[in-house]
Amino acid sequence: MGNYNQAVILEQIRRAGAMSRVELASITGLSAQTVSNICQRMIEAGIIAEGTRSTTTSGRGKPPTPLLLVGDSRFAVGVHVDPSVISTVLLALDGTVITHRRHPAPTAGEPAKTVRLISRQVERVLATAAVDRERVVGVGIAAPGPIDIERGVIVDPPNLGAWHRVPLQRSVSESTGLPVVLDKDVTAAAVAERWLSPTIRDLNFAFLYLGTGLGLGLVISGEVVRGGSGNAGEIGHIVVDPAGPPCSCGQRGCVAVTCTPAALVGEAERLSVLPRSRVGSDPRSVDDALSEIVSLARRGNALASDILERVGERISRMITVVCNLLDVDRVVVGGPLWARLSPWLESQIPLALTTRLVAHGIHDVEVVGTTLGANVGAIGAACLVLDDTLSPKTDSLLLS
Ligand SMILES: [Zn+2]
Repeated sequence: MGNYNQAVILEQIRRAGAMSRVELASITGLSAQTVSNICQRMIEAGIIAEGTRSTTTSGRGKPPTPLLLVGDSRFAVGVHVDPSVISTVLLALDGTVITHRRHPAPTAGEPAKTVRLISRQVERVLATAAVDRERVVGVGIAAPGPIDIERGVIVDPPNLGAWHRVPLQRSVSESTGLPVVLDKDVTAAAVAERWLSPTIRDLNFAFLYLGTGLGLGLVISGEVVRGGSGNAGEIGHIVVDPAGPPCSCGQRGCVAVTCTPAALVGEAERLSVLPRSRVGSDPRSVDDALSEIVSLARRGNALASDILERVGERISRMITVVCNLLDVDRVVVGGPLWARLSPWLESQIPLALTTRLVAHGIHDVEVVGTTLGANVGAIGAACLVLDDTLSPKTDSLLLS
């Protein structure tokens, strides 16, 4: 219970920047004595510090002492395993990205190589930042689902063909000697947005992740939604083009076979926008080919433009299904594809929402790109570690 209350207080200070003991007691509902004891403990641990008292008095007694977060007192490493790229960040307790790295992923068939690469990247960010290892609370890994969150295992991700029940959490922990937390990439991205949002009350949003695969992270009423097994947000088999190609699930025109980079590149090859001979099937070659489609469309190639217009329509259709189901106020879009596809998505999504959103006219749904850039998954993974040690998990406070 003590740790939980500490997490509640720390989150308040982190979000506000500075807060007095009196304000903390009033906001959290904890007793003045409890707040005082917890703050003393955190001051001794170096996580927070007393600031300078204001010189203006409020008329009664001495002004309260503000408590400030010590941003560089704790750090976490975040790693995002996308099938085409491994992104690594070092995040300070105050949310500052101290340093980051991106490295092409090993080919999908080699989980052992990926584990070695992750460990090397973790060591490199720690060496670059030259932080005291004692202050590093752990490593967060954001990986494509499905995952077995209890065992820290990547199960059989569709875009990492040879990965079958890879115990990533244990392997990385053994090779780095640091505690490791594993979560789905889309959930991590939603965690990053929630963590860095100035307010969390009444926060209802979906994070649409556009990468080698597409997925959804969810925050409802300020809480990250993981579902029963940690695998919520699977949108791959929402039908967005009933006349589209067949999917392994038995339907036609699912997101998984019409909106992924592999689907777009396949379409471009069939329409001879790209030569059929050029592309390997690994995620990196597909990603390069997708960049080529975008570049052709920008240079005025009508067929390439049509392909991207169509994917804009399909993704918009999927977003309206999600918004109608969950009644979110905001859709945040990010992931490695967002920067390239945003011109086509930004033109289509508002129109789709206007025509198909059931709650249209009652409330608007804002669609925005993430402000956290391509590292959003890695930042979220680092937030998970800090969350795990420092933040509350539910809205209800445990009063002592
Ligand atoms: Zn399907």
